[in-house]
Amino acid sequence: MTINELEAQSFHWLVDMLESVEVGLVVLDLDFRVQAWNGFMENHSGITASKIRNQSIFELFPDIPQAWLTRKVDAVALLNTRAFTSWEQRPYLFRFRSTRPITGTEDYMFQNLTISPLAGSTGQVEKICIMVYDVTDIATGKRALERANEQLAKLSMTDRLTGLLNRGTWENLVDAEFERFRRYGHTTSLVMFDIDFFKKVNDNHGHLAGDEVIKHTATTAKSSLRQSDSIGRYGGEEFGIILPETDAEGARTICERIRESIEQSVVQTSVAPISYTVSIGISQLNNNAENHMTWMQQADEALYAAKKGGRNQVVVFE
Ligand code: GH3
Ligand code: MG
Ligand code: MG
Repeated sequence: MTINELEAQSFHWLVDMLESVEVGLVVLDLDFRVQAWNGFMENHSGITASKIRNQSIFELFPDIPQAWLTRKVDAVALLNTRAFTSWEQRPYLFRFRSTRPITGTEDYMFQNLTISPLAGSTGQVEKICIMVYDVTDIATGKRALERANEQLAKLSMTDRLTGLLNRGTWENLVDAEFERFRRYGHTTSLVMFDIDFFKKVNDNHGHLAGDEVIKHTATTAKSSLRQSDSIGRYGGEEFGIILPETDAEGARTICERIRESIEQSVVQTSVAPISYTVSIGISQLNNNAENHMTWMQQADEALYAAKKGGRNQVVVFE
């Protein structure tokens, strides 16, 4: 075998390898006409190398952001250096269908790209090679993780049974509202309420029916509130509401509506229909409260007075 034949042979298997590697290889001239297009690109695009050769990449793939790719390629050619872009900056360059249509959660293949300069014999950059890596699995995993983390953050702020804010989160909001009052003096009211004779509900119908009643209280109260009001589950069957921009009389109107709508409803639990009532305490914030704890104690005292006064009623702290 002559040297030339040997060289031709090794060139042949090199090309074979580039054809079958699981990475997309695209060679472009500086006018963005395709010079090489390997098997990976053929398989995912459905366009053969012979068909695409010498065609402008932008004509065949109108989705490709022309200004962006031109800027990248110009920099690579000018500086004679490689550039890398990740799916996190731009999910894909070539819009290929995801190859995991059943197990995948994403519709398109996520791609990392390497853009390399290819110099001719004179050392001058004549062509550009784009390598396309399929990173769909990594992207899918990372996105799922992000979604799970968001869920987790939400869960740690809310109460599992009712979906309302949990005690810690709600108390922080009370504190924040107290600070807002101190700074700007906006009118604001706090509400604490508690289900009447709830032990009897548990004793007569069981804990699960009790839980259904607690959920009903949460839904009923929430539906009477504005977007800007904050309701939390303070304890087992105790709830708190912050009513910004609301004075005691305004709060009383809202609370009467909640009290009445609970009194009038019948909870269809899995064991029995249950009727129940709630007692409600209100405190409009004024300069006598030293901190948010005092404010809450005032609302709690009003609640205690409502219980003592015979339950199923609304009392405003004086
Ligand atoms: P009052 O009218 O004075 O409020 O009487 P009450 O029976 O409701 O008394 P209290 O508010 O002290 O009752 C709290 C009861 O709520 C005690 C506890 O067994 C029950 N409880 C607390 N958390 C839960 C819960 O998550 N689910 C259920 N089913 N019951 C709970
Ligand atoms: Mg109670
Ligand atoms: Mg209680």
